[in-house]
Amino acid sequence: MSEPNSERQHFSKNWQQQLAEAFNNIEDLCRYLHLSPDDLPVSIAATKNFPLRVPLSFAACIEKANPHDSLLRQVLPINEELLSYPGFNNDPVGDLASATQTGVLHKYHGRVLLINTGSCAINCRYCFRRNFPYADLQLSKQKEDVAVQYIQDDASISEVILSGGDPLLLSDARLTRLIQQLDSIEHLKRIRIHSRLPIVLPARITSELINTLTESPKQIIMVVHCNHANEISERVITACNSLKNSGIALFNQSVLLKGVNDNAKVLCELSEQLFSHGIIPYYLHLLDKATGTGHFEVSEIEALKLIGQVQVALPGYLVPKLVKEQAGAASKQSIY
Ligand SMILES: *Cc1c(COP(=O)(O)O)cnc(C)c1O
Ligand code: SF4
Repeated sequence: MSEPNSERQHFSKNWQQQLAEAFNNIEDLCRYLHLSPDDLPVSIAATKNFPLRVPLSFAACIEKANPHDSLLRQVLPINEELLSYPGFNNDPVGDLASATQTGVLHKYHGRVLLINTGSCAINCRYCFRRNFPYADLQLSKQKEDVAVQYIQDDASISEVILSGGDPLLLSDARLTRLIQQLDSIEHLKRIRIHSRLPIVLPARITSELINTLTESPKQIIMVVHCNHANEISERVITACNSLKNSGIALFNQSVLLKGVNDNAKVLCELSEQLFSHGIIPYYLHLLDKATGTGHFEVSEIEALKLIGQVQVALPGYLVPKLVKEQAGAASKQSIY
């Protein structure tokens, strides 16, 4: 199927413009998808603290006129978000609030995570960060310098993880400056980037960005976030190929989500598709129990059953590690 002119025009623009043109309300997204909001359990109230945000590159992967599409479910604000579920609260991981103050999360041995920005290109309805009022938080240059000093002062740190929000929403200039600062820290071996942009806004993977990354003497790792094989469009493949061809190691993390990927066949197809494009399945996370996300929960028992089915169907290297995040723990908790 060929692309309508308006879409071709959109995709010829740079990533900042594509981001500015992302869907930001239910009606526009529904119109584009040939759906009527009246026939869907959509909720305007749910968008109040966490707006709808969907780049066209992701929306174009949603099946038209299918109210149950697995990609649509990840981004459409619905009534169930307003329900409260036992055990779900505003800070399930237990430390994000403090991390947004300092910008540094040092929980695990040898690795620190930098919260570089609070924004994302897409608002995933299942996300734990939906309840944090840090949408526009950005690690200021000053705080960034403090964070770099922190890493400089601790020789046990061998890896820095740029996270967020989405760290690739930083400009190339900001990223270059940060990476150059990290480059000068001798004991640092690796810089890891956790980003959903290669999947939801592949236009972000420019040659300038790749130059910034490959100029670093450190090993560069990119962990993308993809939950369903349908998210892997031709544009995503092109972006991932250019990352891979420039020597960047590519991994994927997914969240196990009811109505999205809680099915062994869907999980197998995801692993197969990822690997065929050079991306290694890394983690399959159990949902963090954040307020507003209860309808996405898959029980631990069900999760174990699913991963068991995946393990029987695929070679070991295509089976992601099933993990959950536990406040206070020294690593992600493997549950398989
Ligand atoms: C998830 C996470 C990491 C990365 O953990 P890996 O198991 O190395 O992928 C590091 N720091 C924090 C605070 C994290 O939440
Ligand atoms: S891209 Fe990641 S951090 Fe951003 S809303 Fe989605 S899941 Fe949350």
